Amino acid sequence: MDILVKGGVLADGSRADVAIAGGIITAVEPRITAQAGEVIDATGKLISAPFVDAHFHMDATLSYGRPRVNASGTLLEGIALWGELKQQQTREDIVARALDYCRQAVGQGVLAIRSHVDVTDPNFRTVEALLEVRQRVRDVLDLQLVAFPQDGWYRAPGAEAQVIRALDAGVDVVGGIPHFERTMAAGATSVRAACELAAARGLRVDLHCDESDDPHSRHIETLAAETIRLGLQGRVAGSHLTSMHSMDNYYVAKLLPLIAEAQVAAIPNPLINITLQGRMDSYPKRRGLTRVPELRAAGVTVAFGQDCVRDPWYPLGSGDMLEVAHMGLHVALMTAPDQMRAAYQMVTDTPAQIMGLDFGLEVGKRASLIVLDAPDPIEALRLRPARLAVISNGRVVARTEPARCAISAGF
Ligand SMILES: [Zn+2]
Repeated sequence: MDILVKGGVLADGSRADVAIAGGIITAVEPRITAQAGEVIDATGKLISAPFVDAHFHMDATLSYGRPRVNASGTLLEGIALWGELKQQQTREDIVARALDYCRQAVGQGVLAIRSHVDVTDPNFRTVEALLEVRQRVRDVLDLQLVAFPQDGWYRAPGAEAQVIRALDAGVDVVGGIPHFERTMAAGATSVRAACELAAARGLRVDLHCDESDDPHSRHIETLAAETIRLGLQGRVAGSHLTSMHSMDNYYVAKLLPLIAEAQVAAIPNPLINITLQGRMDSYPKRRGLTRVPELRAAGVTVAFGQDCVRDPWYPLGSGDMLEVAHMGLHVALMTAPDQMRAAYQMVTDTPAQIMGLDFGLEVGKRASLIVLDAPDPIEALRLRPARLAVISNGRVVARTEPARCAISAGF
């Protein structure tokens, strides 16, 4: 045995030792006595599957303030700023920032990220840079790339060909942005084109879908219908779906079962949705986050994504998926104990499932897990504590000492 994690607590409250050999979990039992090369004392601490971020933009991360900050705080000014930045940045610049972010994320226990990569950069630097990053981090971090036509599948000249070029170069997933096309009709056509391309190539689909406060932005309906028509069930995700926040309840009552029937996953991004949406409202101001509890109740797979860290759309973010889940459960009013436990799953097991990863604390799975300085998932959400140990593919890749505060208040 290479590593023995001793005395930990699983998410269900049961005590467990975890044995690791050859990069695989070989035992999960209440007490393991065999010798190991390395013993990690996890007494009373939560042993968890790693954090997984199913929605990120690694080509833009850590670029905040370049060429200037987003004054309006809107999605559209962010897209315009990114349009300027992508003309200026070099491949080396993108690689350096992405690797910096990957190190920060791994330190927080994030061992898989699905990153959209803008393919509408005509010189293709973003794709080449992130393919290099995927290769360089692969032993530690699963980086899944989405061919994302940021400026529109049809609206940006040549974007469709660039999506195909990116897939030919090894990008994993077909992306899109139907609400940014010139018309609703063009948006619907782009959804169809993306799904047909994925079906022809046996790939997954993840669209930026209805990231809008417009209740009439209904591309998720087309996405679900195309998924069923093409037999893509279980391979398709709609990211954001913020328009659903503002839709008529009667229409949503028809839409939710359609999404469930199509097995289309939903990936809202709470930190970003709560800051980009509602910008044109006076009061009351809409929250923008999609209908998370209602989607879950309808049987839809829902994961929370990070989306942005210090980029043209968001000045904050730390790569900590507990911060994402913390915001998500607040905005979605998911404060019942079972809902908070679900929020924890929405940044661990559920995004791993959406990305098709074999993570999980079970014998025979990859030995990728984390030990947190908290006894259970709800305390982890409350405290967002140190990731005491991060183990990826059977190797300890990060450790954090808990911060200690000496109080001398005198009462
Ligand atoms: Zn995004």
